[in-house]
Amino acid sequence: MTKVPLPAGVITGLPTSEPVLAWTVDDGSDAEVVRLYIEFARTSGTRLTFFLNGSYPGWTEHAELLKPLVASGQVQLGNHTWSHAALTHLDDAGIVAELQRNHDFIVSTYGVDPRPYYRPPFGYRDRRTDAAAASIGYTCPAMWYGSLADSDLRSEQEILGLADRWFLPAHIVIGHLNFLPVTRVFPQLQQLIADRGLIPVTLDDVFEH
Ligand SMILES: [Zn+2]
Repeated sequence: MTKVPLPAGVITGLPTSEPVLAWTVDDGSDAEVVRLYIEFARTSGTRLTFFLNGSYPGWTEHAELLKPLVASGQVQLGNHTWSHAALTHLDDAGIVAELQRNHDFIVSTYGVDPRPYYRPPFGYRDRRTDAAAASIGYTCPAMWYGSLADSDLRSEQEILGLADRWFLPAHIVIGHLNFLPVTRVFPQLQQLIADRGLIPVTLDDVFEH
């Protein structure tokens, strides 16, 4: 596809008429879910963006498994802060410290620079947090339009229902690497994407920056 210029400021969707889906996945509090998502990406070839918190051990434990996918560009890494901090509750120095520590972890562990993309935990952001993040190059708060709602424990059926609702062209959809149920419906999610003619993409596949 032809890349489009990254708009200034926050993004919530993909400004293209192509049938692309940005399946983005956050956190990583369960190391086994992290491993299974990586395995799914590896075996299916699905392009994904992980907004990870480096404080979760799974990102270190499974780094060797994930690294080749990151190196090839199939999986993009974005910054989700080191410890899943609510940025609006921190002062400017605290915001910078959370993003910088996670940035340094990603660079040293995976050898890629996630800038300018970060996702504010809980979606908590405002003009002040945006400015603090931008001061170290994180100029793009990557939000979403559609959620699998699995930051908390959800059933397989709930997750499939939300995928049916939100896996649509030009959408950025958010999921989580926190609970096992999503890992049991990977084949159905893959089938839904195929049935709808959707092309999974990373943010870097879409945006020029
Ligand atoms: Zn999160």
